[in-house]
Amino acid sequence: EKLSVGLLFGGESPEHEVSIVTARAIAEHLDSVRFQVRPMGIARNGVWAVLGDPFARLAAGELPERSDHPFLPLEKGAEATPLPDVFFNALHGAGGEDGQIQGYLELLHRPYTGAGLLAMAAGMDKWITKRLWESEGLPVVPYVGLTEERWRREAAVCLAECAKLGLPLFVKPANLGSSIGVEKVKRAEDLPAALDRAFTFDRRVLVEQGLDVREIEVAVLGGDEPQVSQPGEVIVADEFYTFEDKYLHGKSRTEIPANIPEELADLVRKLAARAFAASDGYGMARVDFFLERLTGRVFLNELNFIPGFTSISMYPKMMAASGVPYADLLTRLIDLALARHAQIV
Ligand code: ATP
Ligand code: MG
Ligand code: MG
Ligand code: MG
Repeated sequence: EKLSVGLLFGGESPEHEVSIVTARAIAEHLDSVRFQVRPMGIARNGVWAVLGDPFARLAAGELPERSDHPFLPLEKGAEATPLPDVFFNALHGAGGEDGQIQGYLELLHRPYTGAGLLAMAAGMDKWITKRLWESEGLPVVPYVGLTEERWRREAAVCLAECAKLGLPLFVKPANLGSSIGVEKVKRAEDLPAALDRAFTFDRRVLVEQGLDVREIEVAVLGGDEPQVSQPGEVIVADEFYTFEDKYLHGKSRTEIPANIPEELADLVRKLAARAFAASDGYGMARVDFFLERLTGRVFLNELNFIPGFTSISMYPKMMAASGVPYADLLTRLIDLALARHAQIV
């Protein structure tokens, strides 16, 4: 008897399209001997499309009509759809990567890929993540965290705190991805306007010391004793790794393994495993580092629990280079989901 896998994709976040591409790749590579894929597309209006070909329907921008069911966001006519045995979460960003869907699936008593609710919610929040990592003595880039309320109340004090970080600065919303809302600030007089713009995305914002860096990434797979890949490098073409570069012109290159000394690669891998554990990681994560050019110092930047995940994305490529091809990676993630579920129920 095959295990039915509810493949969740789409979603209400700006990464809706990326998620459709990811999910198609997953459906294509999933072991068809063990698993039966059931595509479940969350349309932009939040309704779950499960009938017909959900990939094509979401790609065409269809907005399915919600059924009369008072609790479930299922589409009309799909009320009798059986619950899959396990969920594969291919959603990116808000709703899918931040604990919301995890809480929902917990209530359904079904296993799902990736980390649990707490880890996902905290991992999506750069400020909370820094606090978790700092409390473990892990190296993070010096920063100031600001709430919008405080910025409105005592702007001069906030600016004085930020001034201690020097220039340039990076301003970023606490809860976003894909470089959306991230700005480099080179002159002190530009900081207030940059903060005002960042607060249109989130009520909490980080101001970080801007470093001249190489960007090193590591793929982590597993539970308490996870497998950690060789580091890869993103060789950034623009002034920093922007949204345009990630999704539009794609001028940056990647190199796997990263061309760094072996001791440095070992250090980065150890830090990645500690950061994963400190964030209560489970399943997978791409842990991103900055390597300061001038000093050779290593800093943790952030962690992504649902990293870019098409077969040519950085995370799967790093795992493949470490001996886990894409199809095996999918099987491992589902087995991890089943194991975690068996532990907690
Ligand atoms: P992702 O798409 O990886 O989830 P993100 O939106 O979460 O990205 P960050 O990774 O924090 O945002 O920042 C985006 C990019 O901005 C980085 O990859 C890097 O190029 C640049 N950057 C961010 N913070 C700094 C910093 N403190 N110093 C130098 N460059 C930085
Ligand atoms: Mg991120
Ligand atoms: Mg992300
Ligand atoms: Mg990033």
